[in-house]
Amino acid sequence: MIPDYHWHTARCGHASGSMSEYVMEAQRQGLIEVGFADHIPMYWLPEGRRDSGLAMAGEEFPFYVQRVLALRETTPVLEIRLGVEADFIPGSEGDLKSILSAYPFDYVIGSVHYIDGWGYDNPDLMHEYEKRNLDELYALYFEQLCAAARSGLFDIIAHPDLIKKFGHRLAKQPLDLYRKAALAFAEAGVCVELNTAGLRMPAAEIYPAREFLAQCRKKGVPVTTGSDAHQPEQVGWGFKLALELLKDAGYSEVALFRERNRTFTRI
Ligand code: ZN
Ligand code: FE
Ligand code: FE
Ligand code: ZN
Repeated sequence: MIPDYHWHTARCGHASGSMSEYVMEAQRQGLIEVGFADHIPMYWLPEGRRDSGLAMAGEEFPFYVQRVLALRETTPVLEIRLGVEADFIPGSEGDLKSILSAYPFDYVIGSVHYIDGWGYDNPDLMHEYEKRNLDELYALYFEQLCAAARSGLFDIIAHPDLIKKFGHRLAKQPLDLYRKAALAFAEAGVCVELNTAGLRMPAAEIYPAREFLAQCRKKGVPVTTGSDAHQPEQVGWGFKLALELLKDAGYSEVALFRERNRTFTRI
């Protein structure tokens, strides 16, 4: 059984259900280890410019943490981890580091959701793709991804080919970009996240692509798993496929985290 380390909560403004409903769904499915990893407050923007539909307000963050820790206490049969999904924003690394150090996270998932300030995975900003050269965009995206890994801020790199979310694909698979990213992950000592949310999007495919995951395996990059659930019904989404993909890529174990220490469990 693989863990589900990537759950959101209604606090982020675009997820639904109560936190205990996520937990109950996990118990129903017989998951053994799970974790909340809600969007970190938009720390790189002044309060007035933050979008309450994208992430919780700064003042909510301590309550998010408290609530996860409380659920952990009252749910002895399931291992509940405290995680967070933190945006990688070049130039704001120091701010992120100090926020992260204030809470007892079990793991930090690093995400590239912005390319030079453009929220390329935001459906409301999709029109921007029309103005872009896709090859250049992919190159820029993968550069950011490698920089995120090298920042040392993260344990796990989220949905590593999220740039395909709306189906924008290159004519030819970017195998060299996959190789470069896998090498950067390996050198930085971060895990890659197998994230099943892509199955629910126009990409209609798990993040990362099969060849990208295979490269990660080849370079010795550990892997974690997550559904990126934004509703209780999405807990464990596509995990049967996820397990097949992992084994296909040559993985026989997945990484687990506790207080930012990594262990492994066989799959
Ligand atoms: Zn989200
Ligand atoms: Fe994300
Ligand atoms: Fe997420
Ligand atoms: Zn995500």
